[in-house]
Amino acid sequence: MILPKSNRLTPEQVAEVTAIVREFGCSIQPIVGAVRTIYAIVGDERDELMINRLEGLNFVDRIDRIQSPFKLMDRRSDLSSHRIRVGGVTLGEDLAIIAGQCTIDPKNPNFFLETALAVKEAGAHVLRGGVWKPRTNPYAFQGDSKSIDILMEASRITGLPVDAEVMDEEQLQVALDAGVHMLQVGARNALNYSLLRSIGRAVAKRDTIVLLKRSLHMGSLSEFISAAEYIAAFGNPNVILCPRGTAPALDGYRNHPDESITPLLKEKTWAPVVVDPSHSVGRASYVPACALAAVAYGADGLCMEAHVSPSHGIGDDPKQALTPAVLADTIAQAKQIWSLRRSAVGGG
Ligand code: PEP
Ligand code: MN
Repeated sequence: MILPKSNRLTPEQVAEVTAIVREFGCSIQPIVGAVRTIYAIVGDERDELMINRLEGLNFVDRIDRIQSPFKLMDRRSDLSSHRIRVGGVTLGEDLAIIAGQCTIDPKNPNFFLETALAVKEAGAHVLRGGVWKPRTNPYAFQGDSKSIDILMEASRITGLPVDAEVMDEEQLQVALDAGVHMLQVGARNALNYSLLRSIGRAVAKRDTIVLLKRSLHMGSLSEFISAAEYIAAFGNPNVILCPRGTAPALDGYRNHPDESITPLLKEKTWAPVVVDPSHSVGRASYVPACALAAVAYGADGLCMEAHVSPSHGIGDDPKQALTPAVLADTIAQAKQIWSLRRSAVGGG
């Protein structure tokens, strides 16, 4: 990793650096942070001669040689000061709330528009809405591209940025063309490396944020953080990690709630953690407890399913969605825990 003395290298300096690393079979990938751009050396960056020559350049501050499978997302990376801002909040400095329906019903758009206004009123910073849905049953409703217009209309009405899951390149393109601010990679696709690469490539020169769910099949923490690195490696480090419950399920819950993973993640990565209690427990009545526990464990935010009339919802909404009143209470309590945690000795 090349750390320049200035906020970014000039095109001439990039050309000079590129010429050096090319001699050693490497290339350069700029990673645009909030304040400073740093330059990843793609390839085997261990050659001492190459490092010496780079360190000799008067516009280079230092060469960071983090030996980690996720050198950009690593806590020791220069990107650790990078902050992600969305919906008027900065992750790590304010508790960020993503809320909205699991699935937008294209036949009843008013439900989504009402939900959008209600979650804003309850205190959400980002509106979520499923346009395309990963369904176990091939005959179940799979989503509908038309819902993207409903999602963007809700964004216009509320002024909230929006989050939607994409599962393939076609959906990715539709979502980006429509102006979706946050792309969700679902639990089923968090290990789909070609999709991660496509998303990384597509968001490289944008300020789009990626909400990366934890796969049910991820073992080590490194596997989760490395999936985030796949996206960041193309140049956009706006990746949020989202634990959402794992397998095997805890009897009675939809999955095994994994909100306690946050302190472990924070030891290894600077990436913000936004926990999804809705898919973790799978029942509206259990969601508030899981949400509050997640904040106590150090989450930077929560992603919760909510609906103005859960029984009229489709997808997960009839089971999991919070009513706006419960969502508002949960957010208020979560903020209290957030403040307690921040004021506690060693809190953060
Ligand atoms: C969702 O957010 O509605 C969803 C399908 O999530 P997950 O990928 O975590 O199952
Ligand atoms: Mn859902």
